[in-house]
Amino acid sequence: MYNDLKQRDRAVNWHPYTQMKAASEIIPIVKGKDAYLFDDKGNRYIDAVSSWWVTLHGHAHPYIAQKVSEQLLQLEQVIFAGFTHEPAIKLSENLLKLLPVNQTKVFYTDNGSTAVEVALKMCIQYAHNKGLKKNKILSFHNAYHGDTFGAMSVSSRTVWTQPFGEMLFEVIFIDVPTKDNLEELKKTIDLYSDELACFIYEPLVQGAAGMLMHEPEDLSALMQYCRFKNILMVQDEIFVGFGRTGKLFAADYLTEKPDIMCFSKGLTGGTFPLGMTTCSEAVYEAFYADDACKALFHGHSFTANPLACTAALASLDLLLKKQTLENIERICSEHQQFLNEIKDHLAIKSIRQRGTILALELKITEETSYFNRQYESLYPYFLSKGIILRPLGNILYLVPPYCISTSDLRYIYQSIQTALNL
Ligand SMILES: *Cc1c(COP(=O)(O)O)cnc(C)c1O
Repeated sequence: MYNDLKQRDRAVNWHPYTQMKAASEIIPIVKGKDAYLFDDKGNRYIDAVSSWWVTLHGHAHPYIAQKVSEQLLQLEQVIFAGFTHEPAIKLSENLLKLLPVNQTKVFYTDNGSTAVEVALKMCIQYAHNKGLKKNKILSFHNAYHGDTFGAMSVSSRTVWTQPFGEMLFEVIFIDVPTKDNLEELKKTIDLYSDELACFIYEPLVQGAAGMLMHEPEDLSALMQYCRFKNILMVQDEIFVGFGRTGKLFAADYLTEKPDIMCFSKGLTGGTFPLGMTTCSEAVYEAFYADDACKALFHGHSFTANPLACTAALASLDLLLKKQTLENIERICSEHQQFLNEIKDHLAIKSIRQRGTILALELKITEETSYFNRQYESLYPYFLSKGIILRPLGNILYLVPPYCISTSDLRYIYQSIQTALNL
């Protein structure tokens, strides 16, 4: 029945982040269960990247499916301008309780990039509504905040953004904070502080850049300075939120509170597209006025879709279960053990971990380009072992769903070890 899926796909579908001419194998998936995906030939794969970092509790989770199917028969969608519904109200209530106390309002969208767009528009219009002109943004080198134009603008300039380079708006890029560079960063901020609408950052882990990591104390110190300089802070927790870092949110590691936060990916446990931008009362109040023009004129057809909100509520129930929190801790300690075992391996340039996120940066030796060839072949190698690991260049990383078994984790570690020894 599924024999021709590959051919039919090739005839009509254009895949993301894929040079279609070079794409050798696109695998039809017909079923998901727990940490596994099954292809049309009956092969089973361990989803070690949580299907692009979204799946928290495993695939086709029966509890989420149950809640969503009940909601589907109750109310599937309603315009969110002029109307509301309980799933959106309850989700906002429940989530705000878990966020830094200054976060008081929620604006819904339907993916991570649009959650970032909304955050940027909030910051720029915040200044505009106050009669100020602030049109520069502060961001980190190696940042990634999404693929729409605003989100691309505040992301680092790479081969991904190159064709659009001249159409992206002005961003001041700084290094991530370390123990030694804070004074230097402050100087750069001082140069532009009056023009900066906001500072946007991925806290603790820069995912798409290759799981680059920095320390909470250093980020807190930088945030403290932005607070001092009255620069709005946008904390993009789209990837790191919902337990990935070992705590519920990266915010739980930081002593400073952001003004605005962005969420998506794990928000619905990976079952539905949903984006969320939260903000402080002070940000909200800059839009709350008798003047209709001060409103935030932004919305999407599927803003706060009831099914997506229901999935998010169900995922949150599961996330806060003792069993899930124990699973997160178990993954953290398994990662740590593996890190200690393999860190001195000759093929490894560096290895880093934050919570359930583990990244191995492999050595590239120009002369032989041995590891160059090596890492290009890693993806098919792991597939042949029944593992989905999608390296970012020479960086091999694990972001597993929390339900992954210890034996599957150890099987992945073993397969990595074998691959490095080949
Ligand atoms: C994935 C990601 C985004 C974009 O989210 P999409 O839903 O893919 O548009 C934004 N910021 C970060 C940190 C991300 O990892």
